[in-house]
Amino acid sequence: MNKYTDSRFNCVRFKTREVKVGAVGIGGANPIRLQSMTNTKTQDVKASVKQCIELAEAGAELIRLTAQNLEAARALKDISKEFRAAGFSNPLVADIHFLPQTAMEAVEHVEKIRVNPGNFTDKKKGAPVDYTDALYAEELERVREKFTPLVLRCKALGRAIRIGTNHGSLSDRIISRYGDTSFGMVEAAFEFARICRDLNFNDIVFSFKASNTRIMTQTYRLAAKMMAQQDMNYPLHLGVTEAGFGRDARIKSAIGIGGLLFDGLGDTIRVSLTEDPADELPVAKEIAALAARVRSTKPVAQFEEGIDFYSYSRRASQKVEVANVPAGASAPVAVAEILQGGAKPTGKAELSMLRCPDGSLKSADGAFIYKKYSAPAALEADLKTFASAKIAAEISAENAEAFRAVFDAHKDRLFAAPSAPSNGRHAIGEARLLAAKLKAANVSAPLFILCDSSKLSAPELDSDGRLNEASIYIGGLICDGFGDIVCLDIAGDTAEDTTMCFDILQGARARRSKAEYIACPSCGRTLYDIQETAKKIKAYTEHMKGVTIAIMGCVVNGPGEMADADYGYVGGAPGKINLYKARTCVEMNIPQDEAIDRLLKLIENDLGKK
Ligand code: SF4
Repeated sequence: MNKYTDSRFNCVRFKTREVKVGAVGIGGANPIRLQSMTNTKTQDVKASVKQCIELAEAGAELIRLTAQNLEAARALKDISKEFRAAGFSNPLVADIHFLPQTAMEAVEHVEKIRVNPGNFTDKKKGAPVDYTDALYAEELERVREKFTPLVLRCKALGRAIRIGTNHGSLSDRIISRYGDTSFGMVEAAFEFARICRDLNFNDIVFSFKASNTRIMTQTYRLAAKMMAQQDMNYPLHLGVTEAGFGRDARIKSAIGIGGLLFDGLGDTIRVSLTEDPADELPVAKEIAALAARVRSTKPVAQFEEGIDFYSYSRRASQKVEVANVPAGASAPVAVAEILQGGAKPTGKAELSMLRCPDGSLKSADGAFIYKKYSAPAALEADLKTFASAKIAAEISAENAEAFRAVFDAHKDRLFAAPSAPSNGRHAIGEARLLAAKLKAANVSAPLFILCDSSKLSAPELDSDGRLNEASIYIGGLICDGFGDIVCLDIAGDTAEDTTMCFDILQGARARRSKAEYIACPSCGRTLYDIQETAKKIKAYTEHMKGVTIAIMGCVVNGPGEMADADYGYVGGAPGKINLYKARTCVEMNIPQDEAIDRLLKLIENDLGKK
C-alpha cells in the first residue's frame, strides 16, 4: 500500500482509536482537539495556574507544562489541585525531556505524559558511534528498561502517553541507522509504541513535528501509511514546531497543520508561536474550523496520481514564457499580482494583471489572460482572437480530458488553472485531481494557482482567516509540487497580496524572499525574554535573504531542535547566550546584552566573505 489516506481528492478522516486523556477523548469520532503549552516556570505554581486558566478560557482543551526537573514535576501536583479548584477540568500534560524520573513523578499528578524518544533515555554522545546490530539491540533493551515503569504506571493510573519525535532531535542510535529522516522519526516513535503494545498499553498519541513544512507533512503521511501497515490506529497530534512568530509562523502552521487536516490526518493540534501562549488558540481554532468544513465534503471518484507522497518532487511541466518571465519546468514559482483599484505594479511580482468585468484577468498589454473555460471551443476561439497572448485556462478536473487537443496544439501558449477555492469545496483535492487528469492525458502545461477572496470556502472569514485558507490552499499545493505561477487576491490591497504570496511561498519552502526564523515557543526552561529578543533579531536581519536564524530558549533542546538553521541564538545559562553556526557552538556564555551584536557580526562576517 502506497497511500497514507483513503482519498487525496476529498477529506476522509484517518481512522484512529479514541484515547481518553482525563475526560477528553482524542481521536475516533471526537472533534479536532486544541492544545497549547504554558511558558511560565512550572515551579511557579501561582503563575502557572494563572496561565493554565488563561489558556483554558482561550479555548485550549488540553494544556501542557514542562517538567524540566523533579521540582517542576512535583509542582504539577499543586498546579493540578488549584486549577481544578478554580473549576477547570481540562487535562494537563507534562512535557519530559532527558529525565525519566521526572516522568515518574509527573504521572502522579497529570493526565498525560509527553515523551521524546530522541532524549528520554538516549543521550547525544557527540561523536559518531558505529551501531552494530548487537549494540543497537542492547541500547533498545536499555530504553525498554527505562520506559517500562512509566508505561506500567500510566496503565495503573489511566494516564495517556504522547510519543512525540521532532526533526533534529533524534537519538544518535536512530540517526546512525536511518539518518535524520522522516523514516527515522517514525521508527523512533514506533520503537516506543512497540514497548507499550508489548505491555498491552494502547492509550498512545503520536506526533512527528518539524519546523520545515515539507518535512513535517511528509513525515505525518509516512507515519499514517506505516501505522496502517503495522495495524496501529493511535491518534495523531499535529504541529509545526519552532514555527516562530507573527504572520510567517501562522502561514507555516496553516500550511503544515491545515494541509494534513484537509487530508484527513490529525486528531489534536497545537499551533506553536513565539508569542503569548493564548495567541495560539485563535489560529488553531480557525485552522480546525476550516478543516471541519472540508471533512464533511462528499466522496469523489478516485484517480491514480502516480506521485511519491513522501518526498518532494515538482510536477513535470514545460516552460512557457510570459513577458520574458519563465514559468514552469525548473523556473522559480512566479508570483502574479492583481492591481487593485488602479494600483501601480509593486515591482515585486513577476506579472501584473487587471481584473476585467467578466471576472477574467488580463495583463495591461493584453499579452496574458486568465479565464475560466467550460468548453474547448471557447478556448480555441480566444487563442485565435488573442493570437499572440498566453492564456491561463481555468478548467475543472471533470473536463480536463476534453481540453487535451487544445493543450497539445498550443503547448507554448497555455497554462492550466484549477478552479479557485469556492464555498464548501475541497479545492486542494480538486486541484490535485486536475493535475492527475492532466498527467494521464499527457498534458504538461504549467499550473496557475489563484486564490481569490470572493470565492474562499468560508466567506465570513476575517483577513487572518482568509490568509489561513490561502496558505493551506496555495502552500499545500506547492508542498505537493504543484504550481508554477501563484496569485492571491484576498487583502484588497495589491502590495499586501503580493507580499503574502511571497510569504506563503517561503513558508512552503519554494522561494526565499527574506530571512527565515525558527523560534521556539518558550516554556518553563526558557532562559531569556525570547519574544522581545526575537523581535529585535528580526528587525536587524529581515533583509538577509536566504539566511535562517534559530532563536531558542534553552540549550537543553534548542541546538537539537533548530534543525536546518544557519545560525542559532540559544539560551546557555541565566543571562548568558550561546551562538551557533549550523550545529556548531562558536561562542559560549556571552553576556546577554552583547549577544545580538555578536550574532550580527557573525552573520555579517560570513556574508562579507561570500
Ligand atoms: S527550546 Fe524552547 S520550548 Fe524547547 S525546551 Fe528549550 S526553552 Fe522550552
